[in-house]
Amino acid sequence: MSRYWSKLVEGLSPYVPGEQPKIDNLVKLNTNENPYGPSPKVIEAIQNELGDQLRLYPDPVSLSLRQTIANYYDIQLEQVFVGNGSDEVLAHLFNALLKHDKPILFPDISYSFYPVYCKLYGIEFKAVPLADDFSLNVNDYIQDNGGIIFPNPNAPTGQLLALKEIESLLQQNTDSVVVIDEAYIDFGGESAVKLIDKYPNLLVTQTLSKSRSLAGLRVGIGMGHIDLIEALVRVKDSFNSYPMDRLASVGAIAAFQDKDYFNETCNKVIQERDRLSGALTELGFEVQPSAANFVFARHEKLDAAELAQSLREQKVIVRHFKQARIEQYLRITIGTPEQNNCLLEALSAIVKSKN
Ligand SMILES: *Cc1c(COP(=O)(O)O)cnc(C)c1O
Repeated sequence: MSRYWSKLVEGLSPYVPGEQPKIDNLVKLNTNENPYGPSPKVIEAIQNELGDQLRLYPDPVSLSLRQTIANYYDIQLEQVFVGNGSDEVLAHLFNALLKHDKPILFPDISYSFYPVYCKLYGIEFKAVPLADDFSLNVNDYIQDNGGIIFPNPNAPTGQLLALKEIESLLQQNTDSVVVIDEAYIDFGGESAVKLIDKYPNLLVTQTLSKSRSLAGLRVGIGMGHIDLIEALVRVKDSFNSYPMDRLASVGAIAAFQDKDYFNETCNKVIQERDRLSGALTELGFEVQPSAANFVFARHEKLDAAELAQSLREQKVIVRHFKQARIEQYLRITIGTPEQNNCLLEALSAIVKSKN
């Protein structure tokens, strides 16, 4: 603390991202990055953009990128917002669309950035408990609220909610914005984007960090009714006129254009998710069904924090949350077959040594 700090800063409790350790030969399965690199066409596009034009500001409205995304989803340009990672899109939408008198609702087990934004912007929230099996019942959200947000599939559980459930929620909740955070939708879910024409209070966010292997480029998307997008643009233009730099824009465009590479890498991750889930089950884990690029699992006998520590000693890092209800779970990002084998070998040795 410092006497120079504002009251706001004194009260903040920032989000703690998964670590990015500088250790050689690390098997890094802790932050849901894609184990495959970005499309070679993304690299080429970025290389082509490296030149004299970097002295010029980028397009403040990111027209080409937004048009590319609009074409991809068959929606209007005016229904697309882009930001510096979906975290930035989320920050803006908390400020622009979720800050009202009533508390907003999100699951008790969910993306832990949501309560951080609430604190930053002074938004009241109510955590709605997931069922014992971590399933989300949309009827629990039919109550007075200033807005609703949850990831689909949920994080860190990986559980997917069917689109008809989301539609049922939208039919019953018409007085506030419903945000579906689709950070992991490409690994087996159906996007709610197709509902935005029908429900003016639906905002869908996505990221290029997971399924498009571009966590390092920082590109996020918001899609919804033009009035919702206009609200985001107002906040964005009061904050940073140029959140999308030239490299991020051309890279993101190329990522959307290379559908073959996208499909191929997503399918590889999905295949490995199935294999890893099976192998973990054989090692004594109870594995949650996942539609994401990670699995959420707990061992029948071994303590999760100790497991994470033992794995770490073998240069395999996974994510462990010290949070009620899930402290015995590990969230494990799906790696390449080789990385997953390293994890399985390490786990198998740990399980044997403790028996
Ligand atoms: C990874 C993640 C994000 C943030 O993605 P960025 O675009 O990298 O900021 C948002 N929501 C959820 C649920 C995530 O897991």
